[in-house]
Amino acid sequence: MAFSKKIRPTNYEFLHGISDGNTLILSRAITIIESSLPDDRVLATSLLDQVLPLTGKSIRIGVTGIPGVGKSTFIEVLGNQLTQLGKKVAVLSVDPTSSLSRGSILGDKTRMSELAHNPDAYIRPSPARDSLGGVAPKTREAILLCEAAGFDIIIVETVGVGQSETIVRDMTDFFLLLMIPGAGDDLQGMKRGIMEMADAIVINKADGNNLQAAKISQNAYSSALHLFPPKASGWIVPVQTCSAIDGTGVAEAWNTIEQYNGKMTANGFLFENRNQQRIKWLHELIKEKLTSDFFSNSLKQDQIKSLTEQVAQEKISVRKALELAFN
Ligand code: GDP
Repeated sequence: MAFSKKIRPTNYEFLHGISDGNTLILSRAITIIESSLPDDRVLATSLLDQVLPLTGKSIRIGVTGIPGVGKSTFIEVLGNQLTQLGKKVAVLSVDPTSSLSRGSILGDKTRMSELAHNPDAYIRPSPARDSLGGVAPKTREAILLCEAAGFDIIIVETVGVGQSETIVRDMTDFFLLLMIPGAGDDLQGMKRGIMEMADAIVINKADGNNLQAAKISQNAYSSALHLFPPKASGWIVPVQTCSAIDGTGVAEAWNTIEQYNGKMTANGFLFENRNQQRIKWLHELIKEKLTSDFFSNSLKQDQIKSLTEQVAQEKISVRKALELAFN
C-alpha cells in the first residue's frame, strides 16, 4: 500500500500498515505517539490499545556503556548477524542529552549505516524531549509498536550518563553493559550501580594491542561481580569479551541473551518482570499526572504561592503548609 506523505493515514490504515510491517507507517505512528497535540494523543491511545494483542513477543535488549565504548558498532554487527538468522531487528534509543544538544547523539542513522539499509532492520532516533521522564514513555510505546510490526528483537540503546540506565533497564528484558579494556581497576561510583543492573558485561575492543588488557578486565569484573548480591532471577552474570570491529565474540554475546531468554521464560521471571515493569510504568505516569494537574490548577496556584512565601519566611512549618495545600 502506498501512502501519501501529506495525507495522514486513517486509524484503519495505521493498524494495517503496522501489522503488515510497513516501516513508513510505523515511523509515522511513532511520531504520533511522540506528539503532544490533542488529536494525536487520541489517535495514539486508540492505536496502542488496538495493537496490544500483537505486542510482547520480542526479546527486548537494553545496551549501555559510555560514549565511545562501541555501542553503535556493536549493535550494527549484532543487528546484521541477527537479520542473517532471519530475525527482524528494531533499534530505539533513550538519549537524555538530545534536548540539550538539539539533535540526537544516539540513533543517528549514519552511525549504523549498514544496518539502516538492511530491509529487516529499523532504526528510530531518540525523541527530543525536555526531560528524561518525557522520553521514557514514548520509547516504551515505540517498543510496543515495533513488536506489533513484527520485530523479533528490540534493542534499546542508551548513553551511559547515570540516569538513563535505570529507565532502559525498566523497559527491557536483558540489560547488556559494554565496557572497554583497562577500566577494571575503577569499580567505584556510578559504574558500580550500573554493574549491579547488568545481565551481562561485555568488554568490547578486545583486539590488537587491547587483547591482553581485555582479559585482565574480564577477570577484574568477574571477581567484582562476586561482591554483589545474587540476582532475583537466579541468573549468574557472565563477563565476556568481544571486538565489534572484527566481529569476534558478538555471536557469543547473542548466545548469552538467548540462554537468558530461555531460562527466564521457563522459570517465569520474564513474565513477572514485564508485569512489574508495566505496573511501575503506570504508577509513574499517575504520579506525573497528579503532580502536573495539581500545579496547573489555577485555584491552587495562588494558594501554593502564599504557602511558599509563608514557609520561606518561617511563618508556618512545612508540615502545616502541606496540610493546608490539601485542604
Ligand atoms: P558509541 O559512542 O558507544 O556508539 O561508540 P561507537 O560505536 O561510535 O565507537 C566509537 C569508536 O570506537 C569508533 O571509532 C569505532 O570504530 C571504535 N570501535 C568500536 N568498536 C571497536 C572494537 O571492537 N575495536 C576497536 N579497536 N575499535 C572499536
